[in-house]
Amino acid sequence: MQCAKCQGRLKPIEVDHIELDRCEECRGLWFDPNELNEVLQHGRYKLVEPVFGGNTRLVSAPSNHTPGACPRCKTDLTAIESLVIDGLIYDDCPKCGGIWLDAGELAVLGSHPDAQAMMDFFTKAQSV
Ligand SMILES: [Zn+2]
Ligand SMILES: [Zn+2]
Repeated sequence: MQCAKCQGRLKPIEVDHIELDRCEECRGLWFDPNELNEVLQHGRYKLVEPVFGGNTRLVSAPSNHTPGACPRCKTDLTAIESLVIDGLIYDDCPKCGGIWLDAGELAVLGSHPDAQAMMDFFTKAQSV
């Protein structure tokens, strides 16, 4: 699949039997519906970072954020600013319900003290 943000290709990575798609160029991550919750649950996000080669630097900033297109269905992604975590903007596909996280955003989500609230939020967002 084509990366949502750059010219790179998405390559499947397996984390605790969950298959995710990650861009080899910009290190962004694509989550199909419910995969993000699966990864946030039971602290699985901690298993993702070693697969990343330790690059957890947050590269996205609100000022230069571009949503891009859904790797699955090519629909324009909608940038959504997190109400729980300041400065975190993730991208949501309005059509297939997938979620794009830029490099480092998963670690920010997973390590947030109110990670449970984030999970609840995504569960609601994806059950529509
Ligand atoms: Zn990319
Ligand atoms: Zn889509």
